[in-house]
Amino acid sequence: MPTARQGVRTAASAPVVILGSGMAGLGAAMRLRNEAVPYLVFDANPYYGGHTASERHEDGFVFDDGPHVSFTRDERIRGLFTQFVEGREHRVPADINNYWRGLWLTHPVQMNLRELPADLVVPILVDFIEARYAQAGPIANYQDWLLAAYGATFARTFPEVYGRKYHTIGAEAMTTDWLGPRMYRPGMDEILRGAFGPQESKHYVTEFRYPDEGGFVSYLSPFAEMVELRLGHKAVGIDPVERQLTFANGHRQTYGELISSIPLPALVPLIAGTPTRVQEASRRLSFSSVVIVNLGIGRDTLSDAHISYFYDEDIVFARLNFPHLLSPGNTPADAGSIQAEVYRSERYKPLTTSPEALIPRVVEDLRRTGVLTPDDTILHSDAHVTRFANVIYDTDREPALAEVQRHLDELGIVPCGRYGDWNHDWTDESFASGERAAERVLARGISVRTGR
Ligand SMILES: Cc1cc2nc3c(=O)[nH]c(=O)nc-3n(C[C@H](O)[C@H](O)[C@H](O)COP(=O)(O)OP(=O)(O)OC[C@H]3O[C@@H](n4cnc5c(N)ncnc54)[C@H](O)[C@@H]3O)c2cc1C
Repeated sequence: MPTARQGVRTAASAPVVILGSGMAGLGAAMRLRNEAVPYLVFDANPYYGGHTASERHEDGFVFDDGPHVSFTRDERIRGLFTQFVEGREHRVPADINNYWRGLWLTHPVQMNLRELPADLVVPILVDFIEARYAQAGPIANYQDWLLAAYGATFARTFPEVYGRKYHTIGAEAMTTDWLGPRMYRPGMDEILRGAFGPQESKHYVTEFRYPDEGGFVSYLSPFAEMVELRLGHKAVGIDPVERQLTFANGHRQTYGELISSIPLPALVPLIAGTPTRVQEASRRLSFSSVVIVNLGIGRDTLSDAHISYFYDEDIVFARLNFPHLLSPGNTPADAGSIQAEVYRSERYKPLTTSPEALIPRVVEDLRRTGVLTPDDTILHSDAHVTRFANVIYDTDREPALAEVQRHLDELGIVPCGRYGDWNHDWTDESFASGERAAERVLARGISVRTGR
């Protein structure tokens, strides 16, 4: 019996089709354009940019779809972004802080214990030292990792609580393969030094970059305007044998090769003939959704930090971002702005209200924490939900992902980006993932014909 891949018809004259016009889709488009390979990019949205899209509201506030800053260490991609905005970008030393039970704490908290009450610092230090000298046991999950890295008191007071707010599941149910540089693991000397006095931060992000005008999406705009882009085209069917796509607006498109940045749980159901086990695997890929509450405030002195993390379980948001600190172009004169992130997930912690219903709760918690004063005027408010926010690294992820990837491989469909590779990629990594997808297609050389 022929495999699905063998059964695929080649369509020599058909273009490479890229689904999605976010970082990954446009990274793929750039690579194919540079090789003069015929391609077309389709996106369901009436605008390009995916998660990095930005919107200028009539009242003068600019908000990104979700809050974004660039902190890539990849010099090539950094150069590309800077070139796209012709050098018109703000570069600021990253300023991040933390809120816990009425205290504002320097980031990362584990290196600044002196700012905590003494009756908490003592058990943190005792547990940290005990954990350091304990016989190393196996690290079976994220909770084991936290206990080994920080000791029980710190782990339970800070990262475990934050993790439940951000990932929507407990640390005991998560793997550790997403950690990378995300959680700083200090040495004994750093913990002790931070308990007595300030020290240089070791956070993996040191500088934020952001376009002067138009929000984060300006990093993509000059290129996106050169791309063969079909907006408002939502793919609703993929026939991998005929190599044909069907769109919600009735358009049909034959493809020579298919690159997709659509989130895997949304992509798999579109593919005709997908075996039940692969469909089930795609449903086991868990993800969080984020409600973004955007607020415009009649005061620009809301915060010194660009990003604040909130460790209290009874505060509804996990993180705040202050877009007016990234570029004055994001607000009218003298105004400030806030983006609050509230995480939910369809599998573990479903959203039970409309996004708008969270606005009063967010405002209340901003007042409780002192970010807003009773005199502050709210000039703008809106809220929306982004269905696919973060991949949840639960124990189902790895086997389910392998099943889905095997099937896509058999069909020759090349996934890319944060939601095609199903990981925690940042913007630069998603862009590079799109480039690599294009390279895979170029390397095949089966049905792609260069336009040269
Ligand atoms: C809240 C939040 C904050 C973040 N902050 C940062 C940050 O500060 N810095 C950073 O570097 N990274 C950040 N990231 C990560 C960053 O957003 C991603 O790495 C990147 O935007 C992913 O790009 P992508 O192209 O892979 O996916 P997406 O941007 O999701 O693009 C996928 C595209 O596919 C389209 N699509 C979906 N379904 C269909 C369909 N059926 N038919 C056609 N088109 C379809 C969508 O409309 C979308 O445009 C953040 C992510 C989140 C969720």
